[in-house]
Amino acid sequence: MDERRALVTARRGDGRAEIPLLPAGSSRPVPGWQEQGPDADDPQLDLEEWRRRIRRHPGELKALLRNQAFVAGIGNAYSDEILHAAQLLPFRKRTTLAAEEVDGLYESTRSVLNRATGVLRERVPPTFETEVRDFLAIHNKGGQPCPRCGTRLTEVSAGGTATSYCRGCQR
Ligand SMILES: [Zn+2]
Repeated sequence: MDERRALVTARRGDGRAEIPLLPAGSSRPVPGWQEQGPDADDPQLDLEEWRRRIRRHPGELKALLRNQAFVAGIGNAYSDEILHAAQLLPFRKRTTLAAEEVDGLYESTRSVLNRATGVLRERVPPTFETEVRDFLAIHNKGGQPCPRCGTRLTEVSAGGTATSYCRGCQR
């Protein structure tokens, strides 16, 4: 339990004080302090539940999809795939989404994960992560043409994490 509280010890003046690892004002919950979200492919996560949960998270869409307090189980690659399927830019804020875009994000999440599960099931046993991910549409394919609109895919990297998206058909 203690390690989940994410505390670091910092020197301050003549003494030591424990301070939270997260910066002040961060909306990201400390793991273990808030409920973990349902699995992204949990049948109980229906559209109503999705709409209800997403209201609590105002931030960027890519971070939102990867936030385990929102939904669990979506990693870096699939967050790119889902946003491309939904035609939404990864750095767009959730607060700017129209109601139909919130619903579209739900549909894309389900369809991308269902498709991935189907493909992976056909390929038993998987050998390497890169091998079982060769069916992804855009992740790690910066510079290649978008499968939907042909625009050259953009790839940006922050902190060792690659984000791929299309400026042509995601907004
Ligand atoms: Zn495109």
